[in-house]
Amino acid sequence: MSEAMTGTRSAPIVDLIVAALSGGLVHAGDAKENDPVKILGLPAFRAAGRPPEEAKLITTGTTMIAEAIVQLIEVDHEIVARNELALLRESHEPTGPVVAVHCRCDGTRTDPLAVLTISGPVALVDGKQLIGGLSRREAACPHAGVRKPNTGQDGS
Ligand SMILES: [Zn+2]
Repeated sequence: MSEAMTGTRSAPIVDLIVAALSGGLVHAGDAKENDPVKILGLPAFRAAGRPPEEAKLITTGTTMIAEAIVQLIEVDHEIVARNELALLRESHEPTGPVVAVHCRCDGTRTDPLAVLTISGPVALVDGKQLIGGLSRREAACPHAGVRKPNTGQDGS
């Protein structure tokens, strides 16, 4: 596996593809068409039983092909483990504790910059409210309000 792919979340997918190419891809068939499950043997990717030098070349080539397949998919798609996806979906339900976010300059903790809802591994925020609220403050501490909220009316 190349250094670019090792240690990434894609590594398990690369390993899965390598195993499938080496051991045979399983095609689920089509129950409606009475087409049975098939194992598509791919001898070109099978290193077992080959001389060591040849086996090493096959393994390296198979891994590169698996990495290229993952890279191709990841151009426009995100590969996410099913259990991780379930957590992400759950995280869209704001259920956790609510946390105020203060700048270090707000020693009295009286003027939060934002309020986040912690939900599992993520913190959720109302983006419109956050961006609008922050855009009305001075960037420099102590972040006093510089503009009134945009009410859609001009003047005053
Ligand atoms: Zn500050």
